[in-house]
Amino acid sequence: LGSRINTALQNLSKEAAIDSKAVDALLMEICKALLESDINVKLVHQLRTNVKKSIDLDQLASSANKRRVIQNAVFEELCNLVDPGVEQWKPKKGKSNVIMFVGLQGNGKTTTCTKLAAHYHRKGWKTGLVCADTFRAGAFDQIRQNSSKAHIPYYGRQVYSEVDPVKVASEGVKKFKKDKYEIIIVDTSGRHKQETELFKEMEEISAGVNPDNVVFVMDGTIGQAADAQARAFKESVDIGSIIITKMDGHAKGGGAISAVAATKSPIVFIGTGEHIYDLERFAPRPFVSKMLGMGDIGGLVETVRDMQLDKTHKNMFKNISQGVFTLRDMRDQLQTISKMGPLNKLMGMMPGMPPELANSFSAEDSSRKIRQSMSIFDSMTEQELDSDGKIFETQKSRLDRISRGSGVRPFEIHALLHQHKQFAQMVKKMGGNKGLLKNMNPEM
Ligand code: GDP
Ligand code: MG
Repeated sequence: LGSRINTALQNLSKEAAIDSKAVDALLMEICKALLESDINVKLVHQLRTNVKKSIDLDQLASSANKRRVIQNAVFEELCNLVDPGVEQWKPKKGKSNVIMFVGLQGNGKTTTCTKLAAHYHRKGWKTGLVCADTFRAGAFDQIRQNSSKAHIPYYGRQVYSEVDPVKVASEGVKKFKKDKYEIIIVDTSGRHKQETELFKEMEEISAGVNPDNVVFVMDGTIGQAADAQARAFKESVDIGSIIITKMDGHAKGGGAISAVAATKSPIVFIGTGEHIYDLERFAPRPFVSKMLGMGDIGGLVETVRDMQLDKTHKNMFKNISQGVFTLRDMRDQLQTISKMGPLNKLMGMMPGMPPELANSFSAEDSSRKIRQSMSIFDSMTEQELDSDGKIFETQKSRLDRISRGSGVRPFEIHALLHQHKQFAQMVKKMGGNKGLLKNMNPEM
């Protein structure tokens, strides 16, 4: 998709006179590519109209970089489509927040339930899982295995004969509420003998557990079916959030835009693998970049340049220029880098980076490693984050606490601290605005 749009854009740059016909032809080419990327026909039409409106022909004719002007207009419009402009639902402290999951069988509900439960659990919320999928024989076992691994309490029934899912859901929620659980996640079935029965069941469970938030889980690879699926669920339950799964493979993710349009709800997370840490916060710009296939080196450089460097990063540059690199600096840097694409490539681009260090981040492992690192950083205190890591050598109990909090084994935490030490030494050597720093100035 990216290359097709890029070719069309390059052809435009070569044209001497830019008139509305040339722009029309280009937009037509871009729209064809977007349709192939599973974006809904009506939305592509809307995008085309909006982009056309936003482009000023006179300005375009005089602009030195015509490609950029149009590329930006398309990019911004896609970002608008993927963001419904409503605030994300957030759980409230001091009450039981009930989150109900809905979505068709196989879309990743059960897997994502556990991922989200583990996410809240790590952040210190008292979290429980309820299995209201009484349709699939193995559903309860799946929840039991997943939750046990993540040390999260669960409620459900082994299915031997007819069990009423509404009853199980209500009982589970009631029990967890009584025990003052703060986050109660209800997994549901996604299959029925008849579709109308499924939607009726969703309505009844929703009426039974009275959810504070309904999460619609959608497989990122389903393509044009997204629109109909999202609409059908929206009609039976009050969807408040979306999670798109299986974005680790070759999913183009265009269906996500349909889901947002049909439900008017924000995408809050994306699933990027089968493992419990493979859940990332959704961010429109990286998502759209990936959709357009800009995740190559050329795109990467632009991303780095375009990225708004906020105060955190300015602080980091200040620290680095003084030869200091704290654990917090490492966390911020990993967070930034993880939004940009393949880490090993990016690391390789950094001047002064020892090759063995860059290569230690292989493409497949790197995103998992980053997420694991983030869980470790999440479990650190402010004092620990602002430190150079030496306190972990003198006070071993801190390491145990972080291991418990993050669910990461101590030797892996050691490995992270060791890596940080290597970085810190490198930064110390470069301190005083030399080498790397000259090229990574925040005012760039
Ligand atoms: P459910 O029927 O909606 O509950 O779906 P499941 O949670 O049982 O998931 C169906 C399949 O998709 C399982 O094999 C999961 O491991 C897999 N799966 C779920 N989320 C992801 C993801 O983000 N990435 C990948 N690669 N696989 C996933
Ligand atoms: Mg399931």
